[in-house]
Amino acid sequence: MKTFLNTINGKSAGSDRTFASYNPATGETLGMVPHSSDDQVAQAVAAAKAAQPGWAALPDGERKALMMKVADLLKENSEVLAEWVVREQGKPLGGVGPDQVPGARFEAWGCEAWTRVPANLDLPVDVVFEDETRRDEMHRKPYGVIAAVAPWNWPLLIAIWQIIPGLRTGSTVVIKPSEYTSIGTLEMVRMISEALPPGVLNTVSGPGEVGAALVGHPDVDKILFTGSAATGSRIAEIAARNLTPTTMELGGNDAAIVLPDADPQQIAMSIFWGAFINMGQTCAAAKRIYVHESKYEAMVAALKAIATQMPMGNGMDAGVVMGPIQNRMQYSKVVGLVEKARQEGATIVCGGQEPGGRGNFYPLTLVSHIKDGAALVDQEQFGPVLPIISYKNVEDAIASANRLDVGLGASVWSNDVQQAKAVASRIQAGTVWINQHGMIHPMVPFGGVKKSGWGSEGGIDGLKAVTVPQVISIKKG
Ligand code: NAD
Repeated sequence: MKTFLNTINGKSAGSDRTFASYNPATGETLGMVPHSSDDQVAQAVAAAKAAQPGWAALPDGERKALMMKVADLLKENSEVLAEWVVREQGKPLGGVGPDQVPGARFEAWGCEAWTRVPANLDLPVDVVFEDETRRDEMHRKPYGVIAAVAPWNWPLLIAIWQIIPGLRTGSTVVIKPSEYTSIGTLEMVRMISEALPPGVLNTVSGPGEVGAALVGHPDVDKILFTGSAATGSRIAEIAARNLTPTTMELGGNDAAIVLPDADPQQIAMSIFWGAFINMGQTCAAAKRIYVHESKYEAMVAALKAIATQMPMGNGMDAGVVMGPIQNRMQYSKVVGLVEKARQEGATIVCGGQEPGGRGNFYPLTLVSHIKDGAALVDQEQFGPVLPIISYKNVEDAIASANRLDVGLGASVWSNDVQQAKAVASRIQAGTVWINQHGMIHPMVPFGGVKKSGWGSEGGIDGLKAVTVPQVISIKKG
């Protein structure tokens, strides 16, 4: 059985302890992954710290050129990386681009896009004040060493969101992938490290305790965390000890509000993918749909017609568009939420039965005649089950969208964009999409409010988030 290796200071690094990574579609062991020791975490941080001044001192154009080389390597290796995503995370290969299934090829393509775009962005010096007596310039400095901790749902794309903005702006990075999906990230970093000086990008792998050792290291200058609110809270406590700044990209429970004038037939496919992209294992997926009572039955029927047609299976097989749930912990959570909804009298419109057999497969499940307060509505399901809730007036739907303590994304669906915008502006969420859901873009910042986190990634704001402002104030005359 092959053991995959970390990259520390430009060299491959194994560990005495290892653990297995599994294919969620088949249960087979894909390979062994190092369980990094505390010493290795310290070595990775030391390597990043030693490499940082030289990396930051490179002329900006040179660093930009190296980032473009990284993008080229991601492009050259995109099929290999996409296949790792299928085998390890479970999403099907799919096509690339908005009209095709947003699967593993989309994820690999996104890694290149989210590298090329920031590589070409600049943070110019901003003159914030000037008169005859003084000139005040705002400069942006790199933090230094960035520690990143990643989740398992979009393992490569989220790793790239964490890695690239910091590298672009002169910081160095140590990243810990999720223990459920380490191999793809270790392989991706090994591949792109070819373009980078030793120590600029390092990995350590292992369970949560390795992440805790990494974020708690005193030489870490900034923490980027993407994952659950519970872990985010633990990391915030650790960060408080060293007063290390953090960016928190946490869970969500996105509401989609279908206004009375929307046409269920017309919007059903977009809502479907907004909810079931990556089997619902997406931070900003639509996780509860509020439909005006006049369109409720039509919306449920339109979604059912789509959900029951989607081929599910091993994502390496042609024609498959839905894969397994990535791990048993998440699988059990989804099963538990559906069973509770069933016991409470909700209608299981389709799915809702465990198929048995190999792999973590669970059918696409729609649940209707369910209300706010049900666990399936109030908790983030993060899987292939969607509650559809009827509302009487728009004020109620807005109140429902805002009643939870999370606010990552949301969407409003209507033929009247002005009316939809008016509703959108009253929703407490980092992003509110109109007539689409979860449509991220490398130029557009992304982040949450309330317990969905703080700080943002993407676009110019994402670059600013990994830099420290410094004012240079010059007396004139
Ligand atoms: P998780 O919090 O269980 O794990 C995330 C990472 O944290 C893993 O690498 C894990 O090993 C590490 N970790 C666990 N305990 C730790 C500790 N004490 N100290 C340091 N690191 C520790 O989350 P998950 O199950 O991998 O991801 C699913 C969650 O992530 C969902 O809630 C989802 O909504 C959220 N998510 C949010 C975004 C976003 O951008 N806002 C994106 C993707 C996923």
